[in-house]
Amino acid sequence: MKDIKSMTMEELEAFLEEDLQQPKYRAKQVFDWLHKKMCGGFGEMTNLSKDLREKLAQKAELRDTTQVAVQESADGTRKYLFSLCDGERIESVYLPHDYGYSVCISSQAGCRQGCRFCASTLDGLSRNLTASEMLSQVYGISKDTGVRIDHVVVMGMGEPLDNYENLIRFLSLITDPRGQNLSMRNLTVSTCGLAPEIRRLAEEKLPLTLALSLHAATQKKRELLMPVARRFSLDEVMGACRYYFEKTGRRVTFEYSLIAGKNDSEEDAAELATLLAGMNCHVNLIPVNPVEERDCAEPDPAAVLRFQNKLEKKGINSTIRRGMGRDIDGACGQLRRRLKE
Ligand code: SAH
Repeated sequence: MKDIKSMTMEELEAFLEEDLQQPKYRAKQVFDWLHKKMCGGFGEMTNLSKDLREKLAQKAELRDTTQVAVQESADGTRKYLFSLCDGERIESVYLPHDYGYSVCISSQAGCRQGCRFCASTLDGLSRNLTASEMLSQVYGISKDTGVRIDHVVVMGMGEPLDNYENLIRFLSLITDPRGQNLSMRNLTVSTCGLAPEIRRLAEEKLPLTLALSLHAATQKKRELLMPVARRFSLDEVMGACRYYFEKTGRRVTFEYSLIAGKNDSEEDAAELATLLAGMNCHVNLIPVNPVEERDCAEPDPAAVLRFQNKLEKKGINSTIRRGMGRDIDGACGQLRRRLKE
């Protein structure tokens, strides 16, 4: 069975011509159903003959997400738990902003990076998501909310650069003008720091935003929070981020989750400022969202402000990202764990 929603227009043309002996223009019709109308089944493709719809159903599968649960926060954030065709469960988040509608998607079921504060990685990696399964999160939420999603952040469960080929395929399909036609500038990919893949992504020269999960400004501290730091050193990762900026001209965003007593002191802020000095970048400070199984507490708001002031004095711009969806298991992988059978 071919995963039809993961096919590019060219692949769809070849599939329809070679496997189903159809004229090329049919591909445009099918692509339109899949990616513009975001249709959930071949039966809905009413401008195709019944015979063709049946043939499609025999040779291809239409991977969709099934909504298992949704939690709505007082601030309008909605967290979705979806199940996939094999029963795997993933989370996605809908965030209405004043500048548009944003969705945060998962790229893997589970994760194998082992970050000490994160819930997604507690049971390891189950599998990579296909491009169609990444798209289905956006399409499913767009249909559920009735709005056109115009921003996507790949910041949900999983490490997107550990699923590189499918990620690139997803990026190309979500920006296809014959489908949802999102602007690449409205896409963000967040990584824990797989340095070789950051360089590979830089070579693609896509005008998307790269977010690097830094969380510590020294090699020693970073290793304590993120096992991946032992594979790719802070120097290697920072080098890859500079290379990314050189190749794409896009300012890198650094994510820094503040954890009480671990990385939130003024000294930590000074070290961070030194690390980032002279770089064209932006820092997002995120008070950690405590996960039951993890020994991580949120710093008090005064400590967060002290940290930010210290950065500012040293000329580093930052934004405090506070609490959207805190009341709804906002942290990566929390909803899935709570509803685990
Ligand atoms: N694997 C990618 C993307 C998924 S995680 C990455 O590491 O960037 C998205 C962001 O949320 C990362 O910065 C991650 O470190 C952070 N994060 C995970 N769990 C968190 C928690 N409990 N509180 C605050 N931030 C968390």
